[in-house]
Amino acid sequence: MTVSQPLLPYSRPIVDEDDIAAVVAFLRSGAPMTDGPAVDVFEADLAKVCGANEAIACSSGTTALHLMMLALGVKAGDQVIVPTVTFLATANAARYVGADVIFADVDPTTALMTPETFEAAIRRGTPGKIKAAIPVHMNGQCCDMRGIVAIAKAHNIAVVEDACHALGGTYPGNESVPVGGLPDVAGACFSFHPVKAFATGEGGAITCADPKLAETLRILRCHGMEKNYDDPVMKEFTHASDGTPNPWFYEMPELGWNFRLSDMQCVLGSSQLKKLPGWLARRAELMGRYEKALKPLAPVIQPIRRVGGNPGWHLNAVLVDFPQIGMERAHFVTRLKAEGVGVGVQYLPVHLQPYYQGLYGRQAFPGAETYYAKCVSLPLFPAMADADVDRVVAAVRKVSGL
Ligand SMILES: *Cc1c(COP(=O)(O)O)cnc(C)c1O
Repeated sequence: MTVSQPLLPYSRPIVDEDDIAAVVAFLRSGAPMTDGPAVDVFEADLAKVCGANEAIACSSGTTALHLMMLALGVKAGDQVIVPTVTFLATANAARYVGADVIFADVDPTTALMTPETFEAAIRRGTPGKIKAAIPVHMNGQCCDMRGIVAIAKAHNIAVVEDACHALGGTYPGNESVPVGGLPDVAGACFSFHPVKAFATGEGGAITCADPKLAETLRILRCHGMEKNYDDPVMKEFTHASDGTPNPWFYEMPELGWNFRLSDMQCVLGSSQLKKLPGWLARRAELMGRYEKALKPLAPVIQPIRRVGGNPGWHLNAVLVDFPQIGMERAHFVTRLKAEGVGVGVQYLPVHLQPYYQGLYGRQAFPGAETYYAKCVSLPLFPAMADADVDRVVAAVRKVSGL
């Protein structure tokens, strides 16, 4: 088979000349390469976009989730509720601190954990042991956070949003609040991996409302080191006998990690972030064009259900009835690739992974399994042209025979 046109991937980052210039200028400046002022600037920029009091930059979306588990004191013997349709990292964060994962099912038309599937997961957990829940804003659409937070409050469960797909969006029924700016959750986690809304190579962040939690997160991302001269545990190490402070003093009351994001990456992040609104607007435009072009293919091929809000569209997930088109997904994907269209399948439900089956046995989540059987992510990135959308939909029609 010949590829007549260059492959359109399902996602691709944009690195502009001004991003490159910002990084080069930083490297020439001699500014600190880590722990420097560029981190504070990036954190302030991100907090503003998310309408949050605090943003804490870290080395990835995965370490953002891990830090939140640590900062909330989630530990061995505790339980954390995680929807099973997500990237591995959401569930793994609970395991890093020794907690057990209680998987929640998802809506088969959106892949979102709902108040109902959340409650069902709570019923399968152990009362008093469920310390946190991590709803995932799949594809860029947000979960019903009003419903989820109300249930979480009633059960004394902390809510950590996995917002790795949803930066720059708003909530359904709460359109004035940007994702990451909810005051009544513990915090929201973001990723700046190159497939996400903007890229720093690897990178991540947490936004939160509580300055004390932010302080804890910053200490944990840097080995657990504190410069606590006022109320130290190691009292005799802080000062000389005449009261002159020991400038090298630090102490580690709790075990921490090195999960920092470097200044060079923060400079790139601040530069990329300036363009986020334009990129998201372009993503929304492309989604609108897809929606129109895909209409004649319904109900065999159709977009995931729209829940409202202003999604920061990350993935363009469509649901395909493969038995109806008489083709297995692998063949559909291979033939689309031959037409120059790269697609993704997000995600294999996490409860089916051998590691999790080894821990909890084979569980059944009908919503997740239905979604997984149908989902395909078609190309979506801001540098796509309108003609690219038309080309993708034409290829989908050709391959599916619709
Ligand atoms: C990308 C992603 C992560 C992990 O982010 P990294 O920066 O790759 O560590 C976690 N959860 C979801 C839903 C993601 O898409």
